[in-house]
Amino acid sequence: MAVERTLSIIKPDATRRNLTGKIIAKLEDAGLKVIAQKRIRLTREKAEAFYEVHAERPFYSDLCDFMTSGPVVVQALEGENAVAKNREVMGATNPEDAAVGTIRKEFAENVEANSVHGSDSPENAAIEIAFFFDDDEIVG
Ligand code: ADP
Ligand code: MG
Repeated sequence: MAVERTLSIIKPDATRRNLTGKIIAKLEDAGLKVIAQKRIRLTREKAEAFYEVHAERPFYSDLCDFMTSGPVVVQALEGENAVAKNREVMGATNPEDAAVGTIRKEFAENVEANSVHGSDSPENAAIEIAFFFDDDEIVG
């Protein structure tokens, strides 16, 4: 297995409920290391661009409303098999389908306000990390 990087976002439903630390603890307990992090408020333009791949989905507009409704914490994570490892710790998109012990099972409010984002492939991880971070903001 290779050391990989992945992009994580702690979403507005989680920052609103002050769950940032509890979510980071789950990531760290799984062996993922936070190598870049910042708390920001997404602009509508930035949210739309980030979720461009979902532009044709019926929930796209609502999703962009939600992602701009409060602060998010964007993170680059590093570790063995980081992309799949993070997806495992996050749990299924819909918290009703998420395994016990996962972030979404424990914290998500519903399928939209599901507390975290994680890249779905190493290729997308590289694109998504570059979307939020300059090279000199990442310290591995
Ligand atoms: P994941 O975040 O697990 O990779 P997707 O990439 O399919 O899931 O969707 C991106 C985000 O869009 C989800 O995390 C969730 O916030 C939202 N979303 C996905 N499916 C739905 C849905 N059926 N209704 C409302 N929002 C959804
Ligand atoms: Mg996705």
